[in-house]
Order: sequence, then C-alpha cells, then structure tokens
Amino acid sequence: MKISAPVTKNQTIEGTIEDLTYEGLGVLKVDRYPLFVADALPGETIKAVVTKAGKNFGYARCLERETTSPDRVEVKKEDRRLAQAGIAPLQHMTYAAQLVFKQHQIESLLAKAKLDIEVSETLGMEKPYQYRNKAQIPVRLVNGQLETGFYRQHSHDLVPLEDYYIQDARIDQAIIVVRDLLREYGLAPYNEADQSGIIRNIMVRQGYYSDDMMIGFITNSKTLPHAQDLIKGITAQLPHVKSIVHNVNNRATNVIMGPVTKTIYGEDVIFDKLLGNQFAISAQSFYQVNPQQTEKLYQIAIDKAQLSDRDVVIDAYCGIGTISLAMARHAGDVFGVEVVSDAVADAKRNAKLNHLDNVEFVANKAEYQMSKWQEMGMKPDVIVVDPPRKGLDETLIESATQMAPKRVVYVSCNPSTLVRDIQRFAERGYHVVGPIQPVDQFPQTPHIESVTLLERD
Ligand code: SAH
Repeated sequence: MKISAPVTKNQTIEGTIEDLTYEGLGVLKVDRYPLFVADALPGETIKAVVTKAGKNFGYARCLERETTSPDRVEVKKEDRRLAQAGIAPLQHMTYAAQLVFKQHQIESLLAKAKLDIEVSETLGMEKPYQYRNKAQIPVRLVNGQLETGFYRQHSHDLVPLEDYYIQDARIDQAIIVVRDLLREYGLAPYNEADQSGIIRNIMVRQGYYSDDMMIGFITNSKTLPHAQDLIKGITAQLPHVKSIVHNVNNRATNVIMGPVTKTIYGEDVIFDKLLGNQFAISAQSFYQVNPQQTEKLYQIAIDKAQLSDRDVVIDAYCGIGTISLAMARHAGDVFGVEVVSDAVADAKRNAKLNHLDNVEFVANKAEYQMSKWQEMGMKPDVIVVDPPRKGLDETLIESATQMAPKRVVYVSCNPSTLVRDIQRFAERGYHVVGPIQPVDQFPQTPHIESVTLLERD
C-alpha cells in the first residue's frame, strides 16, 4: 500500500500542538502524520498553512494562535529576525520552560531505550543571553551594501544584524567596527554563487575574565587588501584587541576556516581563565563558548570523577586541555588526547602556563590512542570523554572498558548519542550511577549538554 500525506502544500489546517521536537519545533498531528511548526508550543491551538508535505512528515507555518501557552514569552518584532536566523530558536519559550524542555528531551530518549535512569533539573544561567564568547559572522552583499549578519535558517540568504542577543555585547560592537572599516576601504564581500569577492567571514573571540579580544578575517583571496588600514582602524577603536589573524579559505565549502592562519597583528593567541587556570586560545582551537556555564559543567565533571591525588586520569577529546588541567589539580597523572594538533600545542603550553607537570597530551584520534594505551597496559582510574555530536566510536568504548577504570565521566553535547553509548557501556559492565546532570550551555537554542557518571559493576 502506498502511504501518502493526509495534507497537501498550501492547505490550511487547525489543531493543537502536542509536543516539541529536539529542535524545538511544535508537533501538530493530522491523524498520525506529524507537521512541524516553528514558534508553536505544546497546548497551543493554532491555524497553520502546510509549507511542505513529505511522505512521513511535513512542515507548516503558524498563521494564527487561538490559545497561548503559559510557557510563551512575547518576542519583540525586531527580535523575530533572531528566530529566522536560527540564532535563538527557543526565544519564544520562558527560560524556565527551556530548562524543563532540555531535561525532558533526555528523559524521553532514555524512556524510548527502556533505560530507567534519572535526569536532574537542567542547571541554567542567571542571565541567559549575551553569553557567547565567539562569533563567526558571514559577510555578504545585500542590496548593494556590504553587510554582516546571519543566514536565514536552512539557506544562505544573509539577514543583516547588529544585536545578536546571545553574544557578548563587546563582540557585537567589534563586528560593527570591522564592518564599517570593510565598507570604508571598499573590500568586496564574498559571493558564493560565483566564488568571487574577498571577505567571507569575520571571526571574533572575547575573553570572559580577561578583556582580550581576537579578530580574524577569513578571505577567499590569498592576501588581505588594506591589511594595515584595517589593523590601524581596529586597534584605534578597539584597544582591547590583542590579536588579529588572517585565514585563507578559497574552497567552495561550508567549513568556515581554511587550514592556515597567519597572525597579522599582536599575539597568536588570547588568554582567558576557567576554574582558576589560565588558557591560551588560538584561532583554530575549540574552546567552550559559554564560559560561565562551562565552569559549572567542569565542576560537576570533577565532582563525579571523585578523584584522589594518586588517580590516573584519561581526558579524551581534550581540546586545549581545559578539563585535563582542571582535573590535574585533584589527580595523580592526567593524559589528554585530541585530534587537532594546534589544540594539542595549546594544551601543552597551557600546562606550562599553569605550572602543572602531571599532564601529558597526545595528538591523535581518541579511538586510536585509547587502543594504543590499552595495549601498553595503562590502568587509568577515571576516563573522561567529551566527544563531538556523533558520540563515541564503539572501538573506543571497547578499549576504554578493557582498561577497567573505576569510573567513566561522560560529558555529552548530544543526548541521542549519549543514550546509545550508555547502552554500549552497559554491554561491557558499566552502569550509570546517580542522575544525569544537564547543564545549559546554549540558552535560547535547543542544544543540550550533560554530564553522566558510569561505574564498573
Ligand atoms: N573537552 C574540551 C573539548 C571538547 S569538544 C573542552 O571542553 O573544551 C570536542 C573535541 O574533540 C574538539 O576539540 C575536537 O577537535 C575533538 N575531536 C573530534 N573528533 C575527535 C577524535 N576522533 N579524536 C580526538 N579528538 C577529536
């Protein structure tokens, strides 16, 4: 039997939102067919128009809201662009409701996997906006003028913006300064259609405890025209800028930076602190974007690790060593592994900077290094993992558990791979102890970060 959608494109329908997807879209069901609707909350009855009717699910746009959820906050008209740009897709929910949404997302994934594991309330921020310490802003021509902003969701149409709402206000200000200088010196924005033009993106990084700022130009051209004029203009208007870098990316790709970054002014890095340790951060290294919440996240990871001062710790996916160094203060020896070699160089430098000599860093894929350590007979007491969204490689789980650590602390940015990996650990004798603790690293967005403790049976 051929299954087809019970609705057609442009059809108007009415119904009550039943649920939210992991992306924060409202779910409106026609018979059992789900339509996903932006800016619609559970319990709200709406009138909507179908914008896409696929075989198994579709999308609709809200035309009229007949009832309003108590979890809704009114979004000012000028802020609606933030939702269009995908910067703050949950901005129409109260912050309290966002925190509950994140907790429930993990709970429902656990329930689907038939796992009876508790999830604590999401640890939120006091001021859940202007928290990001990094921006990579596209530069494009819009109506004949060079503009900075954000892409309209699921497109490459630039929406010009000046107030990004979730970024450190100093970053917003810097982007305006740089945009105006680019206009003044007539630098051509990149054009994706024919890969012409010069400036693709502006990157800005801002310290939280430090005042340091790094500005980066990502260009389609090999050289940066008017480099000296730009440097002069930036340093005159933004005296806290400690580093200006130039990165060339002349490939037709969505990856923002190319492989090589050159410092054209000041230092190669900026400095910031986390849990009392100092960190040098270079342009290409991963660094957590929400420093206030990162300190809470790491503290929970340290508490769950229950370290004693002789313990051997592995920190897999260690980035520039932020978790490794935080743990090194409480442990015997710490071994970090990370695939980006620049980040490993930063990590080594950071260990020295903080006079910690009980830490070693290796540049390698975590899954390869873990099996190497296992073959070498290493016996860690605690393994910390903080993988990207795709979660852990099964071979890493195999070699990690073969080394028989007492505890595994899993820092996750994707609950669905976390739940999958919890099951893989269970097959090898490791079970979750205590509740999973979500920590809100990304207010106004549906991203969910959490910490889980697993122990050997
Ligand atoms: N723990 C660090 C970094 C976490 S982000 C922090 O809190 O800052 C995940 C890190 O994993 C990134 O630095 C990324 O470069 C790295 N990574 C991605 N795939 C990897 C792999 N296969 N092996 C090792 N590291 C990897």
